[in-house]
Amino acid sequence: MPELPEVETLCRQLNEILPGEKILAVEVLDPRLGTTEDEGLDGRKIERVYRQGKYIRIEMGKRSQDPGISGPEKGRGKIKQKPSDDRLTAALHLRMTGRLLWQTGSEPAPPYTRLVISFAAGRLILIDPRRFATFCVRPSETAPALVENPLEGLPPHHLKKTAEKRRLPVKSFLMDQRFVAGIGNIYACEILYHAGIDPRRHAGSLSDAEWRKVQKASAAVLPRAVECRGTTVSDWRDLFGMSGENQNHLEVYSREGKPCRRCGGMIQRTKIGGRGTWFCPICQK
Ligand SMILES: [Zn+2]
Repeated sequence: MPELPEVETLCRQLNEILPGEKILAVEVLDPRLGTTEDEGLDGRKIERVYRQGKYIRIEMGKRSQDPGISGPEKGRGKIKQKPSDDRLTAALHLRMTGRLLWQTGSEPAPPYTRLVISFAAGRLILIDPRRFATFCVRPSETAPALVENPLEGLPPHHLKKTAEKRRLPVKSFLMDQRFVAGIGNIYACEILYHAGIDPRRHAGSLSDAEWRKVQKASAAVLPRAVECRGTTVSDWRDLFGMSGENQNHLEVYSREGKPCRRCGGMIQRTKIGGRGTWFCPICQK
């Protein structure tokens, strides 16, 4: 499942290709995506792509170059403002198994292709075997891009207060998208290892100093994962079909029975909230 660094990687790669490109055609191959081909996307130019939590947001300009819409209005009857006169933003969420692929050749679309957006420079393809991904189009509103580290800038006592109200292990708290957007299983395990915090501890039991350690750890773990274009432990691929490289930097995730690189003790696996959780019982208190 793509987490913050993977979604951020896709946004950055899309932002290198798409701004200025005009949508030539949109093919929706799966009605479960929650969108149709008549959203008025063709003819629009992409302005920018940014991440909001785990959403990929694609901002598009007005369809001003379509003479059928921007030309002089005929007749004296009331003409309703067409939705295509607004600036639009598409919000794409990959959920469990969604991935994006940029194709420039004439090769056939891969199996499980759900959506194809064609541009002069190439095609953006959404592939999703389990069909949980969503794609919806709304009028643009000003939503700021998020920082790389969702824990950055939050006062530790605010984190502590929020956590105290929740009866959750700290790992589950970090993965709860209502409080911290974008951190999933892999990065929650890694951040808590770097912070030296036992993932089984109650989130409300962490002191301000310990929350500062969690923040510092996330500021080390997440940007590095973005630099490495994400973590490929199963099916993650970037926009160009390449594996990420952050799996080479994992300290605990999926390392059950292997020695801790800090203390030499053995990494253990447990389950928290139904999810596999890896930690060092010596380094994490
Ligand atoms: Zn250790």
